[in-house]
Amino acid sequence: RERLAVTARVARLEDGVVLLLVEDRTEARRVDAVRRDFVANVSHELKTPVGALILLAEAVQGASDDPEAVRRFSARMQVEATRLSQLVQELLDLSRLQSHDPLAQARRVDLDDVVIEAVDLCHTAADAKKIQLVTGGEAGLHVLGDAPQLVMAVRNLVDNAVSYSPEGTRVAVTTRRCDSLVELTVTDQGIGIPERDLERIFERFYRVDQARSRSTGGTGLGLSIVKHVANNHGGDVRVWSEEGSGSTFTIRLPCGMDETGDVIGTSGDA
Ligand code: ADP
Repeated sequence: RERLAVTARVARLEDGVVLLLVEDRTEARRVDAVRRDFVANVSHELKTPVGALILLAEAVQGASDDPEAVRRFSARMQVEATRLSQLVQELLDLSRLQSHDPLAQARRVDLDDVVIEAVDLCHTAADAKKIQLVTGGEAGLHVLGDAPQLVMAVRNLVDNAVSYSPEGTRVAVTTRRCDSLVELTVTDQGIGIPERDLERIFERFYRVDQARSRSTGGTGLGLSIVKHVANNHGGDVRVWSEEGSGSTFTIRLPCGMDETGDVIGTSGDA
């Protein structure tokens, strides 16, 4: 149960009237606590790769007469530096997605292009695990939105599907229209997510399995980015998952346009 936080001030006016000013600070306090938690989490997440880099740099210096050890340590340094760079990039993405006007660049977006671009970005990782990436569903669907944001969201879902699936499985990306909504669905045949974690996986830095997520290079920010993109577009993201059989993530977006492609609520094209 949340405790109320109030501040009260008393002011006595010249004519003897006493004013009691009470301000409800509960929401402000909650926002403050969320911000502090976030900063603490970010610091913790940054410390891990930075600490590893410092140790590895010392190890390289100490192993200067052993070329094989130097090679091994510097390869490890590259992994940690890449992780750091990905973390910083995703933090920047997240902060941009929370800007005042996240859809300032909105225009008519072809979902086929979004899917092709996102899937292209994941091919190398999928090929390395012999995972087949397939696309399908209804072609030619459009939404009013921000294409780079939508690519980022679908890419994150496909990246996860590949990361949390065994070799030789299949990941499918499909599009479909459902009344005034369009759906982008990513389905995998991977490890699945325990039911107790489903509610929390969209939180920043939440991971079902810390060790596994780190070893796959995960930052814990991917799904939070997906959720922000969906919300920015007036939509949402849902998940269905069964441990051991796979997961399905669906982004639902209002198309924001009528049958002729005109933006709803205006007379012109997007
Ligand atoms: P990460 O960078 O760790 O992948 P995300 O925010 O993208 O972070 O995902 C949060 C957590 O949800 C992951 O750590 C993982 O445990 C779980 N998860 C996300 N997508 C999948 C998936 N397709 N299959 C199984 N688990 C998943």
